[in-house]
Amino acid sequence: MSNEVLVVGAGPVGLSMAAALCRYGVPVRIIEKAAQPSGQSRALFLWTRTLELLDRSGLGGELIAAGRKIDAVNLLAGAKRIGRIELSEVDSTHPYALMLPQAETERLITAQLEALGGRVEFGTALAGFTSGPDHVRVTLQHADGREEVVEAAYLVGCDGGGSVVRKALGLSSSGPAQQSDWLLADVTLQGFDGAPTELHSFWHEDGFFGIFPLPSGRYRVVGDLHDVHGEHPEPPTLAQVQAMMDARGPGGVTVSDPVWLSAFRIHQRNISTYRVGRVFLAGDAAHLHNPVGAQGLNMGIHDAVNLSWKLALVYRGAANAEALLESYNAERHAVADAVVNELDRAAALAMLKNPTLQFARNLFGGLFFGMEPARKALAETVSEVSHGYRHSPINGTNDRALPGPGPGERLPPRPDEPPLGSGNAPRFALFAAPGPRVDRLRRDFAALLEPELRAPISPRTIWLGRPDGYVAAAAIDEDSDQIEAYLRTYLPDSAALAAM
Ligand SMILES: Cc1cc2nc3c(=O)[nH]c(=O)nc-3n(C[C@H](O)[C@H](O)[C@H](O)COP(=O)(O)OP(=O)(O)OC[C@H]3O[C@@H](n4cnc5c(N)ncnc54)[C@H](O)[C@@H]3O)c2cc1C
Repeated sequence: MSNEVLVVGAGPVGLSMAAALCRYGVPVRIIEKAAQPSGQSRALFLWTRTLELLDRSGLGGELIAAGRKIDAVNLLAGAKRIGRIELSEVDSTHPYALMLPQAETERLITAQLEALGGRVEFGTALAGFTSGPDHVRVTLQHADGREEVVEAAYLVGCDGGGSVVRKALGLSSSGPAQQSDWLLADVTLQGFDGAPTELHSFWHEDGFFGIFPLPSGRYRVVGDLHDVHGEHPEPPTLAQVQAMMDARGPGGVTVSDPVWLSAFRIHQRNISTYRVGRVFLAGDAAHLHNPVGAQGLNMGIHDAVNLSWKLALVYRGAANAEALLESYNAERHAVADAVVNELDRAAALAMLKNPTLQFARNLFGGLFFGMEPARKALAETVSEVSHGYRHSPINGTNDRALPGPGPGERLPPRPDEPPLGSGNAPRFALFAAPGPRVDRLRRDFAALLEPELRAPISPRTIWLGRPDGYVAAAAIDEDSDQIEAYLRTYLPDSAALAAM
């Protein structure tokens, strides 16, 4: 078998998947049907949780150096501010969002992939595959017309909204039935006094409207055209953009000097399953979101983080492979479902038509944003730090309800410690003080654990952290057998252990 994993598609999600697998020493091949990177920047923002997760590979610092920090999101109705989400309220090593055009994000992840010995095979398309109990047999189509048949242990479809992998699997999807067309314009603005480190989202009965700063000093203007128009939406004229700015924006703002005018169609959806045997789906191939939340690329990178450590552990001979791999579907599908629903509710609230309801929304919005806990909760949702896997089938116990994050919840990174999952092997981390029980765990499960202990989360407790920074299990010190039981589930047999 030539490769353990074949990744289809070199968008941000496929690149993240391939780079993470390379870092963990898993043989991987990544193919891309286009002849070169698209250079297009649909996505602009990386949220807090994504930056935390990218820190694991050492990429966070480079991304931050290339981007611009965003401190706040303003919610407005015309010139009236309804609310403001302060990202500094998020408990994180990155209490901000990063404005970084998608092409730049892709360029930096590609550079990292290459530094780890990987390489995108451009001009190579997946043409078809058959999946058996032991491997996936894949037909590749090269740009010169040549066909190649390869086998891989696993296939990961990161091939975007039109995914060939998803179509070949014949999977159905759920989500709001309605499609909508959107316009996008990268322009110069005169008369706009919003801070260049803040996002401005306008709620209007005709649809959402956003003004986002670009590193060049221009702004990206995005607006919901509400219905669908024809087969494909036509790029807008500058006059249409101006008309939307006048109708939905703060007033008195002139648009000019467009460098990109585009239109796109969105159909929010979540596919029925992210895994069929040895074939996985990730990113836009699995879920599509309303651009109101700017979550799609971020969510796709989280998919890659979630799946890559599990594939790497299975590659290293971990026991219980089936449960581990199936948990990718259970965990990521549930998060995407929640985000599709959240964004649908947000869009409905933004587009209320009834003037009485609009008045009530604006009034209660003001009251809501006046309450610190409510504001903080919203900041944690927007920045994606509140997402977690509380109902995951691979969660361990926390039966004494210890104070602190429970199984499946995020472990906030500590500034003075390396992020969980960094390094060249996917390892669990013990947050505990040394002692006979803890020392025995370290000895018996050395293949699965980081060599060093991390400072305890609370006295006389043991927290077990997953390689993607979520809690696996937690127990008081004398219940260390619960942690042992969890680790034993994945302990490789002695032959695989010897090879690790
Ligand atoms: C206007 C707009 C604004 C957005 N803003 C944001 C934002 O601010 N934040 C955010 O998080 N998200 C945003 N998104 C969403 C974001 O752009 C996508 O979620 C993201 O690009 C998905 O990445 P992906 O790798 O899954 O898919 P893609 O980027 O679509 O990449 C898929 C790749 O697979 C390749 N491919 C397809 N078929 C094959 C095949 N058969 N063989 C080989 N290769 C194949 C394609 O050529 C492509 O390169 C926005 C989207 C739009 C439209």
